[in-house]
Amino acid sequence: MQAYVRKNISEVEYHTWFAPVRAIGVEQGALVLGVRNSFAQEWFRKHYLELLEDALRSLGASNPQVSFQVLPAAQDTLMMAEPPPAAPRPSLRAAPVSPVPAPNLNPKYIFENFVVGPNNNLAHAAALAVAESPGKAYNPLFIYGDVGLGKTHLMHAVGHYMTERFPGKRVEYVSTESFTNDLINAIRDDKMAQFRNRYRSVDLLLVDDIQFLAGKERTQEEFFHTFNALYENHKQIILSSDRPPREIQTLEGRLRSRFEWGLITDIQSPEYETRVAILKMNAEHNRIDIPQDVLELIARQVTANIRELEGAMMRVVAFASLNNVPFSRAVAAKALSHVFTPLEIKVEMKDVLRTVAARYGLGAEVLRGSGRMREVVVPRQIAMYLIRDLTSHSLPEIGSFFDRDHSTVMHAISKVTDNLQKDAELTLTIDELRRQLSG
Ligand code: ADP
Ligand code: MG
Repeated sequence: MQAYVRKNISEVEYHTWFAPVRAIGVEQGALVLGVRNSFAQEWFRKHYLELLEDALRSLGASNPQVSFQVLPAAQDTLMMAEPPPAAPRPSLRAAPVSPVPAPNLNPKYIFENFVVGPNNNLAHAAALAVAESPGKAYNPLFIYGDVGLGKTHLMHAVGHYMTERFPGKRVEYVSTESFTNDLINAIRDDKMAQFRNRYRSVDLLLVDDIQFLAGKERTQEEFFHTFNALYENHKQIILSSDRPPREIQTLEGRLRSRFEWGLITDIQSPEYETRVAILKMNAEHNRIDIPQDVLELIARQVTANIRELEGAMMRVVAFASLNNVPFSRAVAAKALSHVFTPLEIKVEMKDVLRTVAARYGLGAEVLRGSGRMREVVVPRQIAMYLIRDLTSHSLPEIGSFFDRDHSTVMHAISKVTDNLQKDAELTLTIDELRRQLSG
């Protein structure tokens, strides 16, 4: 089965998606595969279901069925946890002991965590191609784009891929600033031979933010020789910059032309759908259960760059947990109001449902269900009352949201109105809910 899958997809895909998969067993005639998270689960359903069924068919199954299950957290902690700086890079597979030093790569920056959208699909495809055939596909690969759009992430992803796939290969990731500092130190300490050896003996050299070479003649000179040495030996070079080579001022012509030898590709700002997908993946990886409509609101607010987008989500999460309130669009708007222009926030029925349910320690769907116990009926009536109060929905619309008719809603509202006259605690509760909801 593995062989079949492997034959039908690229190495990178196989490595990214299938390597971490575990066969869990067979349940009701279906093969159950364990995947790392619900993002992967969705991805498998969408992209690989048919392939897997075909694979089973190739083994003689007449009615093949495959289902996916998220593996328990313990088996997944390796992926997102930031290890201590010197720790060996975690891997889900038993990594062969590598004789080369582990490169300085962020374990979070892997292909699997990189959301592909129209803004970055060319850069992503190029990075994959380079990862698959280093030194052969495009050399150098030059990725440019504004800050916070994923250049460093993609470079590290190629680095991870190389070190996992080809354990003997040396990968060196360096910012242009550290390259410059290393050079300065090497000159000062009379260690140029070591410096050259370090940068010229690698199989993959990743140099980040190469625009900082501008105006540094000695560094440019040294980098020129490093580049040539690697290039001539068919070693892969990936460079990133905030602008294309021709726009880097005071860059020597011979370097500029070398940067243009391979492939130049850019990353643009992500569009709305990609921003939502990135937030969703982030929430899942951090195991934060944040509703889609709240993520959508954040994605609408923060448009320019992904680092800010992630920061905004963490701010909303912190705000909600510090104030001990459930996630809602109002809470998100409030959390972000210091940073961004406030949005005109429209309360929606599901916001009310969620907030009221949380107040009473119930699941939102319980309130829409058919339960007739007092513990459910009272909050349900309060939710109906607040929806009528805070939104412009009609009685029949509210009714159908709760799968009931409008007279039930009418009854609920008058019941709550009556109780408000005689129940001070209810008044307080409703005031508080109203405050939470209207931000
Ligand atoms: P750059 O190097 O272009 O300034 P980074 O690579 O540092 O940007 O990315 C900034 C943050 O955004 C990182 O946390 C990175 O993981 C995240 N990020 C960028 N692009 C994506 C993407 N396509 N999918 C998921 N996360 C992304
Ligand atoms: Mg960067």
